[in-house]
Amino acid sequence: MTLHHNLIAGEWVGSNGVENINPSNTNEIVGLYATASADDAKTAIAAAKAAFPAWSRSGILERHAILKKTADEILARKDELGKLLAREEGKTLPEAIGETIRAAQIFDFFAGEALRLAGEVLPSVRPNIGVEITREPIGVIGIITPWNFPIAIPAWKIAPALCYGNTVVFKPAELVPGCSWAIVDILHRAGLPKGVLNLVMGKGSVVGQAMLDSPDLAGITFTGSTGTGKRVASASIEHNRKFQLEMGGKNPMVVLDDADLTVAVESAANSGFFSTGQRCTASSRLIVTEGIHDKFVAALTEKLKTLVVDDALKAGTHIGPVVDERQLATDTDYIAIGKQEGAKLAFGGETIQRDNPGFYLQPTLFTEATNQMRISREEIFGPVASVIRVKDYEEALATANDTPFGLSAGIATTSLKHATHFKRNSEAGMVMVNLPTAGVDFHVPFGGRKASSFGSREQGKYAAEFFTVVKTAYTLA
Ligand code: ADP
Repeated sequence: MTLHHNLIAGEWVGSNGVENINPSNTNEIVGLYATASADDAKTAIAAAKAAFPAWSRSGILERHAILKKTADEILARKDELGKLLAREEGKTLPEAIGETIRAAQIFDFFAGEALRLAGEVLPSVRPNIGVEITREPIGVIGIITPWNFPIAIPAWKIAPALCYGNTVVFKPAELVPGCSWAIVDILHRAGLPKGVLNLVMGKGSVVGQAMLDSPDLAGITFTGSTGTGKRVASASIEHNRKFQLEMGGKNPMVVLDDADLTVAVESAANSGFFSTGQRCTASSRLIVTEGIHDKFVAALTEKLKTLVVDDALKAGTHIGPVVDERQLATDTDYIAIGKQEGAKLAFGGETIQRDNPGFYLQPTLFTEATNQMRISREEIFGPVASVIRVKDYEEALATANDTPFGLSAGIATTSLKHATHFKRNSEAGMVMVNLPTAGVDFHVPFGGRKASSFGSREQGKYAAEFFTVVKTAYTLA
């Protein structure tokens, strides 16, 4: 089997390979991927540092052309890359192709942004002096990504980093190196100079930690768990570097008595269970007012009965497998915890067998949950959601906001008054009205509040905030 190498200083290097396993069929090896050492990470950082002066001054047309070429190739290969994504991560083929198209759109967007770099020219408060405000790249960026969006998250960090003239050391999640390798290969062939983008696949505790400990990274952008995010934060403060964190969520979806039942059920099924519930914007707390509660639970349960859990590549599969054995154990532990805490198991809860050995779990719905239970407070990251019954809108809003997290929040209602009030008073970074809590656009800011995120927003033109630093220059006329 071909070994996919790391890219360091423009060369494909590395020997130790680990197997990338398909969670839909654990007998199947998706590919063999090199693992970097801490020294490899240091070499990659040195290469990115050496490449920075030239790349930071590169022409915008060169950056535009490379990012556009990358977007075009990803789009042209969407079916092949989507299949690779579905095989390594386990989301369904349509979801995986959709995510691949999204990655192409992100590269396309930032190809355009490279041509739209702008500053401001203002008069000084002092006579005969002009003021210019410009944005400059910050230096070498460390990019550390999770396994749940194997192509979109690398795209939404790499594209702006390069667009604004930074160089990059990129460490993807160990479970899903395939899509990351593919986009680095595409960018490399699209003409990036040596050292501008380095790929170091491998363990977080080794490669990731070496990045955290480096004095030469000007910034780290991280998406992953709260625990690792805290490590990124403290190491970054130690090294006086910029950092941006996207971490967990415990996203509420409020359903009011006046909701359109179909909209509420479709939104809850999508938010809670699609992509196997493995989205940081997934909704695992369904906060439902008394008048609609029983109807909603009955209709959602009927909907869950129709969802097919099977191999990610099979036509007709709605929910693919859980990503790996460890995550499956976490999910089943939380299901046991929910039962012990006194929530009622309304649907699912069991692991299931399919033709091939894989990590299959039924979509699982608890009812009679309270917001104080662990299943309502801690991120599970699986196809598990709980219904919390509340009296009225005021209690629903208070419950929705009563969480350490604040990424996304949804409401299903036909009341303009309540929708408007919820948008205004939700303590989440993203609010959805009559839509699933997951599913966002690529040209607008993405990010949360409280323990979900730290630093400036990702995506759209707001990405410039993290990937650039502002300079204010005064000139005597
Ligand atoms: P998850 O539980 O979703 O895998 P992690 O936070 O463990 O979340 O992983 C997210 C990313 O952080 C992965 O690329 C992982 O390898 C990396 N990572 C894990 N531990 C560390 C660490 N100590 N330092 C830097 N990166 C790490």
